[in-house]
Amino acid sequence: MAKANMKQVAGIYHRRIGDVLVTAVSDGYIDAPYNVLQSISRDDAHDILTQEFRPTPPRISVNCYVIRANGKIAIIDTGSGDTMGPTLGMLTKFLTEIDIDLPQIDTVLLTHMHPDHSNGLSDVNGKRLFPNAEIVVSEKDIDYWHDDSAMAKANENQRVRYFEGARFQIAPYMDRLKPAMGEVFPNVRAVDLSGHTPGHTGYMIESENDSLLVWGDICHVPDIQVRRPEVTMVFDADPEAAINTRRRTFDMVSSDKVLVAGMHLHFPGFSHVIANRDGYRMVPESWAFTT
Ligand SMILES: [Zn+2]
Repeated sequence: MAKANMKQVAGIYHRRIGDVLVTAVSDGYIDAPYNVLQSISRDDAHDILTQEFRPTPPRISVNCYVIRANGKIAIIDTGSGDTMGPTLGMLTKFLTEIDIDLPQIDTVLLTHMHPDHSNGLSDVNGKRLFPNAEIVVSEKDIDYWHDDSAMAKANENQRVRYFEGARFQIAPYMDRLKPAMGEVFPNVRAVDLSGHTPGHTGYMIESENDSLLVWGDICHVPDIQVRRPEVTMVFDADPEAAINTRRRTFDMVSSDKVLVAGMHLHFPGFSHVIANRDGYRMVPESWAFTT
């Protein structure tokens, strides 16, 4: 018998929001150790993931979202480049499957500067991988990662991976930054969701009567943090603010019935959030063709 073709189909999913075409593009996933979670015991985290039939320790999707509006192309976040191991760094490969090369991208919208979101900006030689793009990013994130006194307080890992990594990635774009405020791309406006990082930003896409909030890292392990919003991550810059923003965002999207997508929701990530007696529940959209 012929050997089965085991190739997984590209991590791509299209969805229209009014006149805007949004495409979820996977950068892959990462299996994270339990100790990235805070304010929950290892046993509780393990029990919740097991109940939800999720891998243990947590397997975290990393997603980016391409937006096409008014003949222009933007991408929200850039994935991890080739810096985070063999299960990540798929973005460029998957983009070529839908005939997008990085030079065609007009705008990169960053939710924040962390390795899994912004390490796809530049190559190892510090050269722009998005040669024609302007970069929309919160000035607070740019300032924070360039703050020498904050870097001096960080541990070795944070200094190298976060501070130096962010500086290296953004360096070739410093003359083409645009603040993440107001309308940043046709049909897209920046939403302040700070907490996880000082300038953590969501992007609200609105067209006709449809909308989608790409909420960045409002949660990292949705199976746990949607039912337990008080669970934080070891790399939250301000855990208390991250919790408040997570609760406020869950309240807003559940009461206004706003469709969401997120960098760490299980791919492709388009979901609703429902408030119930015990907290919140996530309802992923079902798969559909788009035209
Ligand atoms: Zn992240």
